[in-house]
Amino acid sequence: ATPLTMAVAIGSGAKRGMLIKSAAVLEKLASVGPNCPGRLFVDKTGTLTSGKMRVEAYHGDDRLRVWIAAIESESNHPIARAIVADLPSVGPEARQQVRQRQEKHGFGVTARTPVGQLLVSSPRFAAENAVAIAEHHHEIVQLGLERGMTVVLAAVDGRCEAVLWLKDQLHADSRERLQWLRDAGWRTAILSGDASGPVRLAAEAVGVDGNDAHSEMAPEEKLARVREATLAGNGVVMMVGDGVNDATSLAAADIGVAVHGGAEASLVAADVYLTEAGVGRLVELVDLSRRTLGVMR
Ligand code: ADP
Ligand code: MG
Repeated sequence: ATPLTMAVAIGSGAKRGMLIKSAAVLEKLASVGPNCPGRLFVDKTGTLTSGKMRVEAYHGDDRLRVWIAAIESESNHPIARAIVADLPSVGPEARQQVRQRQEKHGFGVTARTPVGQLLVSSPRFAAENAVAIAEHHHEIVQLGLERGMTVVLAAVDGRCEAVLWLKDQLHADSRERLQWLRDAGWRTAILSGDASGPVRLAAEAVGVDGNDAHSEMAPEEKLARVREATLAGNGVVMMVGDGVNDATSLAAADIGVAVHGGAEASLVAADVYLTEAGVGRLVELVDLSRRTLGVMR
C-alpha cells in the first residue's frame, strides 16, 4: 500500500472512532493470518462486557454504605463508578472526612474514615492483607462467585463488614466477533483482574478456551503474560485494556489498544484508541487493516 492509501485508511478509521497512531500498526494487524498467527489478549470488563456495572446486592452493615461510596468517589474504575451510582450519594462533608485515601490499581481502595480504616477491594487483596472474614460473609462471597458476580469486600480495621455483588453485561455480539477474529488467525485469551468464577463464565460465553482464561491477574502478571508472548516470537501480540493497571501491558504488546472510558495512562501507552469499547470495534480495526493492505478473506 502507498503512503497515501495508509493515510486515507487512518483518516477513515478516525471518522469511525478508531484512532490509529501509525501506518505500521495497520501493517502489523494485516500481517496476521492462517499462516502467521496472532495473539489477542483482552480485558473482560469493558471489552467483553459493557463496563457499566451495577451493584446487584449489598450484604452487610448499612452504615458503611456512605463511606464505601465516599472512598470510591475519586476512582474511575468501573466498580467504583457502579458503587458511586448505586450506593447513597456522598456529600462534601462525608468526602472531607475521608483521609489518606490510596488506590492500588487492580486491587482496590483504602482510606481513614470516621468508622475506622476502610478497605474496599477484591477478595484476593483482602486475603493478602489478612482481613478476617466471618463464615457467613465467606459463604456470600462463594455464592456470588458461583453466580458469576464480581465480588468486592469492605473491611473496617481488618474485619470484613460487607460483601458487594456487582454484575456486568456481556456484549451480545462478543462471541460472534471473537470467533471472527479467531477465524482471522488470532488466538484469543482473557487477562482479567477479576476472580476465576466470573472470568470462567465469561470465557465460556464467548468461546475462549479455559486454558486461555486468566483470572486474578495483578498488573505485573498481565505484563508478564504479554511479555512472554512477545518474546516467544511467533506472531503479533495485541492487548486490549482500559485501566491504569493495563498501561504497562499495552506498552509491552506489539499493538496496544486502549478503549473508551479507560484511564489516561492506558491511552498514552496505546497504539490505537477506540472511542467505543467492545470487540466489535476490534473486528472493524482488523478489517480496516486487511482491506487497506489488500488482504483477502
Ligand atoms: P480487570 O482486569 O477486570 O479490568 P482490574 O485489574 O481493574 O480488573 O481489578 C481487579 C480487581 O480488583 C477487581 O475485580 C476488583 O475486585 C478489585 N478492584 C480494582 N479496583 C477497585 C476499586 N476501585 N474498588 C474496589 N475493588 C477494586
Ligand atoms: Mg480493567
